[in-house]
Amino acid sequence: APDKEKASSVAKIKVVVRKRPLNKKELAKNEEDIITTESHCNSLAVHETKLKVDLTEYVEKHEFVFDAVLNEEVSNDEVYYETVEPIVPIIFQRTKATCFAYGQTGSGKTFTMKPLPLKASRDILRLMHQTYRGQGFQLKLCMREDGKQQVCIVGLQEYRVSDVETIKELIDRGNSTRSTGTTGANEESSRSHAILQLSVKRSVDGSESKPARVVGKLSFIDLAGSERGADTTDNDKQTSLLALKECIRALDNDQGHIPFRGSKLTEVLRDSFVGNSRTVMVSCISPNAGSCEHTLNTLRYADRVK
Ligand code: ADP
Ligand code: MG
Repeated sequence: APDKEKASSVAKIKVVVRKRPLNKKELAKNEEDIITTESHCNSLAVHETKLKVDLTEYVEKHEFVFDAVLNEEVSNDEVYYETVEPIVPIIFQRTKATCFAYGQTGSGKTFTMKPLPLKASRDILRLMHQTYRGQGFQLKLCMREDGKQQVCIVGLQEYRVSDVETIKELIDRGNSTRSTGTTGANEESSRSHAILQLSVKRSVDGSESKPARVVGKLSFIDLAGSERGADTTDNDKQTSLLALKECIRALDNDQGHIPFRGSKLTEVLRDSFVGNSRTVMVSCISPNAGSCEHTLNTLRYADRVK
């Protein structure tokens, strides 16, 4: 019973917005920060400058409320506490959870997602070595990438890991073998979804010699940039982001039918959505006036998921 209580105290779907600070380039151009936040009431406002028919300017204010609003002063540690940390203990109790980073290229998705798997595995290993010591739990790491209509397993195999150092090495190696094409890493990440999964497994009777089964899984998805691109892979990307939104909404409504088959991405994540699952969506936004349209699109997407 205490386990069940723990699991049910974690929201099924949580939508968090993270605003990054203005960068050097934006500051050099004297760009305005158009986002105001009120973290204590989980709200933010976008101040959009528009033109009247007579070409005079006016500001339209768009207000949003989410489960949490993290402004530019919030550290990566705090992001972890707000998003993934509450989920870690219930991974040992047959829960599958997924944390997504959504937003336009340059909004801070990778900056936000990169530290999370390491912090989570540190906590998972601590639980394995302390609370669940001697109970035959194992931690496995696997990385994949969904791009150009295909899912490639970056590391090809699932690795059993038992310390944070090894996990760090595997992640670095996986990132370096990610297809970067001729366009460079950042452009590639604007087109494909990077997937990192941590699986907690256990053999049937807790002994090392028996085959291990998945108990719980934690997936981290650094989604492709949400902006529309001109190239041919863009349709697939938009399809997968749309399919993802539909799946999360179906989950929230407890609909029997979840439209996994809508895209390769949602098919890959199928087993993380069925059964006892948790979803955290971190929507990353840029503060500069020049990103206003993308920012509003991101917030509207997050609003639909919520
Ligand atoms: P994306 O993955 O969405 O394309 P990145 O994570 O690569 O964006 O972020 C773009 C740039 O902004 C990077 O140089 C990154 O270090 C910086 N950045 C992003 N978020 C923050 C933040 N919260 N604080 C400081 N710098 C940030
Ligand atoms: Mg990125």
